[in-house]
Amino acid sequence: MNKRDFLKISAVLGTGIFLAPGMACKTIRQAAVKDKILSEKGVFVLPPLPYATNVLAPHIDAKTMEIHHDKHHGGYVKKLNEALSISPLKDKSLGEIFQALKNNDKETAAIRNNGGGHFNHSLFWSILSPAKSEMSEKFKAAVIRDFQSTEALITQLKDSGTKRFGSGWVWLCVAPDGKLFVLSTPNQDNPLMMNIAERTGTPVLGIDVWEHAYYLNYQNQRGKYLDAIFNVLNWAEISGRYESAIG
Ligand code: MN
Repeated sequence: MNKRDFLKISAVLGTGIFLAPGMACKTIRQAAVKDKILSEKGVFVLPPLPYATNVLAPHIDAKTMEIHHDKHHGGYVKKLNEALSISPLKDKSLGEIFQALKNNDKETAAIRNNGGGHFNHSLFWSILSPAKSEMSEKFKAAVIRDFQSTEALITQLKDSGTKRFGSGWVWLCVAPDGKLFVLSTPNQDNPLMMNIAERTGTPVLGIDVWEHAYYLNYQNQRGKYLDAIFNVLNWAEISGRYESAIG
């Protein structure tokens, strides 16, 4: 880590807690994600949807949005608080919790599932919008550098979402070296769970491929849902997340 990175990370964290000797730079880079939710701790609350439930129709219908936000996301927040109330992780921020989680650990399984559910859905609502927006110049250049074209990126995201067996997510992530990559994770895992995810990075776009995200409108046709969702992606927000991640 060079001096510039050190200063940047210190400024974000406001503490030296992550700078213990021997700690991988990968961990520090993730901790520097400028996502407010990752520094939240204590009792978590369900954030309101940033728009009305009907504005993404016909691509995503109002009933799906209402149930998905109020019942599914609301349920993750409630169960996260219940699980944390009796856990040694209860005083840690969500970002610290993701770094501490370990694979196949029964003690933290409910925190992994519901903490992931809370973060993943909070990101998901933010990267959807009824208003058309464009990629920033910087983000578009990175997409072309790493995928050749926007179309190729979209094809890779759709393929990854179609191939995910069962429930999970598809992510566009920024690797510690600044490159973009596509990753799929099962259940409510995410690429910030460094001891769990196949590959770790900062997610800038996440697409929910659980059946609850599309079943009312598309039934078993996940491919049709994946085609539709690209009509309501908030590329300005995704671009902003990319630019924050690369600092
Ligand atoms: Mn969901």
